[in-house]
Amino acid sequence: MSTAYRACVAARYEYAETIGNDGMQLLASIYESSTTPQWLRQIPAIEVLRQTWLHQYYIDYTDVPLDTPGKLRWRNAADLPKAGDRFDSPYDTDARYANKRSTTWIGYKVHITETCDANDVHLITNVETTQAQLSDVDQTEPIHVSLESKGLSPSEHIVDAGYVDSELLIKSQIDFDIELIGPVRPNVSWQAKTPGGYDISKFSVEWDAKTVTCPQGQKSTTWTPAIDNWGNSGINVKFPSKVCRRCDFRHLCIKSKSESEPRKLRLRPKEEHQIIQTIRSTQDTDEWKERYNTRAGVEGTLSQGINAFGLRKARYRNLPKVRLQHQITAVAINIVRMIAWLDGIPHAQTRISRFAALAVA
Ligand code: SF4
Repeated sequence: MSTAYRACVAARYEYAETIGNDGMQLLASIYESSTTPQWLRQIPAIEVLRQTWLHQYYIDYTDVPLDTPGKLRWRNAADLPKAGDRFDSPYDTDARYANKRSTTWIGYKVHITETCDANDVHLITNVETTQAQLSDVDQTEPIHVSLESKGLSPSEHIVDAGYVDSELLIKSQIDFDIELIGPVRPNVSWQAKTPGGYDISKFSVEWDAKTVTCPQGQKSTTWTPAIDNWGNSGINVKFPSKVCRRCDFRHLCIKSKSESEPRKLRLRPKEEHQIIQTIRSTQDTDEWKERYNTRAGVEGTLSQGINAFGLRKARYRNLPKVRLQHQITAVAINIVRMIAWLDGIPHAQTRISRFAALAVA
């Protein structure tokens, strides 16, 4: 960390603690003075301020003599309550902190669904507004519920990787009759990254017999259904130690220094395992990529919303009003699109970056 950066951080803390001390003084006058009228404490904004200060500051008694007031400190990131549990602004108690790659913000997230048939007008069919810290994957099901309630469920829903997991791939089809199309996380195990390595896709699972056969034709000896630390169901599978110890291909399968360590696998439930393996094996094909490319159109919609309709800036405070803003923005975009469609203006082509174009050439 450079000296200039350290000085900048120190200056920020100093400024934040000046604000914090002002707020503490105000709160002390309201809550601790016997001459302060009772009704002042009942003003909702005062309670919000009190809670915000609790979330953002603490009193530090380190190295402070007994019977002396502590020092007010601005909490650092490790000290803060979870993003969903704290107020980051006393002006909007629904706004939440979030970060995506290098972008951080305090506010909301909007999830937009639109039609994407090649020869038809592209209209927004659903807008889901949430607090910013909530994950995309948790919005897939509410979006499907909302689409269904309006009679607008698509047969295919093309989404980015953040909205996909193995359970949703199954449930979307069963519960909503929607084929969820999106990339799944690649296998990141060392075996998958090693040429010729024995990652999970190289093992065949005999679900009825509850056994797994390894690439060297050996059968697993244990099959134990178990829930992991995150509450996910699955099956722990183990191969016999004696066999794995003598295996000539052990270096492609097991990394442990202990020779007696056998190969172990963690399987998802049957349908989830099968769908993940199927998508992993197809998502690099041209056919799959071409189908998935249709999703890129929604980037144009987001860009239109942001640049022409101020979608990125919340005009109002609190979730219900921000949600309403997003709904009205979607209606406005749809009207503009309908007019363009009736005027015979064709869809804009999805822009291909120069780098991507170079790769295709
Ligand atoms: S190490 Fe064990 S599980 Fe792996 S290939 Fe050899 S016998 Fe099969």
